[in-house]
Amino acid sequence: MLNGRNVWIGEKPCQLVYSTKTLQPHQPLISMKQKIRVTVWGENVHEQKYPAIAKIYPQGMHGTIAEALRESEDLEVVTATLQQPENGLPDSILENTDVLTWWGHCAHDQVADAVVDRVQARVLQGMGLVVLHSGHYSKIFKRLLGTTCSLTWREAGEKERVWVCNPGHPIAQGIDRYFEIPNEEMYGEPFAIPNPDEVVFLSWFEGGEVFRSGCTWKRGNGKVFYFRPGHESYPTYHHKDVRRVLQNAVHWARPEGSLWIDSCPNVPIERAPEPITLKGETMHEPGGTGFR
Ligand code: ZN
Repeated sequence: MLNGRNVWIGEKPCQLVYSTKTLQPHQPLISMKQKIRVTVWGENVHEQKYPAIAKIYPQGMHGTIAEALRESEDLEVVTATLQQPENGLPDSILENTDVLTWWGHCAHDQVADAVVDRVQARVLQGMGLVVLHSGHYSKIFKRLLGTTCSLTWREAGEKERVWVCNPGHPIAQGIDRYFEIPNEEMYGEPFAIPNPDEVVFLSWFEGGEVFRSGCTWKRGNGKVFYFRPGHESYPTYHHKDVRRVLQNAVHWARPEGSLWIDSCPNVPIERAPEPITLKGETMHEPGGTGFR
């Protein structure tokens, strides 16, 4: 039978491309009344290794990002780190995450490919993803965008001026025409990303470079936001405007509609919406799963 609008779950259901343990097709993702469940993922390496960084982020960078998000009462925030089993992101966590934030830098290669597959699947189903700063080179960001995500960079503690490109965008609410971060790493163009759906922020740096520092994309049913600021050796995640953007971004990225589980169904002739008869040869057995 056809369940709901467009997902075949007939007598011979196709194997799901990405299977999950408890989620079902057309399960409503979230209602506006529910709290948004956020998982803050942190690589958690620099702050363990370098006392200067631990001094800025005594609870870890993920701890400070989580603290910033908890200022918003409708967010229910947990943290996860690379060092935990399954890199902190087993099915049980991801299936209860509406929005995932991601900060990584020196250990992108230590994130298991199976975890990347799982996060990608959840984004395609509808989970929001907010990728921060050096997360531009994370496996999950490159996987979702399909380009190298390289950029120009310099570590000189220069001033960053973050300009708002669309004052009406939900992620820019509460932000003036621009805000400044006294010391940051420079990221400059060219930024090797597919053209964003929208550029919400554009950064200018003291040394003269510019960068698309707040970009949105849709991937499957999920929303993706990249936000540039957040170099580990500066107190960027204590900055009030940066914290406001993080809160806004999580609200913007919350899932909408219902779950989209990718199943690639083979609909038999007798189940076609209009009567048809077989013409010519077929490559597949009736109800077969096809080549995958
Ligand atoms: Zn950095």
